[in-house]
Amino acid sequence: MNQAVLILIKPDGLKKSLTGNILTRLSESKLEIVAAKMVRVSKELAEEHYQHLKGKPFFNELIKYLRGELHDRRKVMALVYWGEDAIEKCRELAGSTNPEEAESTTIRGSYGRITTIGVYENVIHASSNEAEAEREIKLWFMPEEIIVDLYVTTQVLEKERKKKAWA
Ligand code: UDP
Ligand code: MG
Repeated sequence: MNQAVLILIKPDGLKKSLTGNILTRLSESKLEIVAAKMVRVSKELAEEHYQHLKGKPFFNELIKYLRGELHDRRKVMALVYWGEDAIEKCRELAGSTNPEEAESTTIRGSYGRITTIGVYENVIHASSNEAEAEREIKLWFMPEEIIVDLYVTTQVLEKERKKKAWA
């Protein structure tokens, strides 16, 4: 069954210059990249993305981590991969959440670490199921940023508003 999955290369992955390496690993999946961009992550976006972890003792540090405050890299790379069993394939290549438990051949097992305050810096995010993937992709991307039609869209009339254009 064809599925979409949100992948984030987290700030530690960017800081460690692992982008090419991670994309190469993910390419083993033979999935198609249907969207990609760099994102400066707001507090709101980070908190919404990790809403299921609100209340955990590491939540505030996790938000700082995703926003790049721990790595002086205020950005993440967001991608959507699409294809047969995309979620399972990407989660397998990513490895377990805890980098110390992740198999050493996986992305997290190879490059992740646990900080002294206990945050798992595991270099990559991959959606964990179809419902989460849909919620996350809609959170990170506008329909026109994805080159295939993944989800039902609607036409909205945009109110007159200022936006940046090429001069
Ligand atoms: N995390 C952490 N400590 C934990 C659990 C999670 O630092 O005990 C962080 C870790 O960076 C993880 C993210 O929170 O990737 C989201 O957690 P989740 O349980 O959703 O794991 P994932 O889906 O990323 O494998
Ligand atoms: Mg998760």
